[in-house]
Amino acid sequence: MIKRLRSLLPLILALTIAFLTACGGAPEAKAPPTYTPEKIAQLRQYSGPITAARQRMPELATLIADKEWIDVGNFIHGPLGQVRGSMGFISRNLLPKDQDTAKEAAKELFVHLEKIDTAAKADRIDIAERQYAEALKDFDAFLDLIPDA
Ligand code: ZN
Repeated sequence: MIKRLRSLLPLILALTIAFLTACGGAPEAKAPPTYTPEKIAQLRQYSGPITAARQRMPELATLIADKEWIDVGNFIHGPLGQVRGSMGFISRNLLPKDQDTAKEAAKELFVHLEKIDTAAKADRIDIAERQYAEALKDFDAFLDLIPDA
């Protein structure tokens, strides 16, 4: 009896491994089949700083509302300026059908941010607030294209 169990052991082990591997692979199966798990991991690495910057956008709204114009400029060129490179990388690594939309959204976002910067220098809160709303739209449009972001 023990001898028979022993001979079954490798089979049980193989089945266990197969089962665990299948379970471990399950979350990846949810992604569109055209993105490899490696690509998803890579995109996620670059999208981290972008989602972090998006979460900080309300800080910019507060600075605009308070007319803290110097801080507005610093925020745009500091924390927000730093995501530009990551957005470029992501745009080039999305599915081909999404690349142009992503590039356009990223380009638009920075056009709006530049306009906020110009409005800040001219003490134009009306323009800054309008451009802020537009910037948010483009920011979210960009994030929508990233799988699992
Ligand atoms: Zn726009």
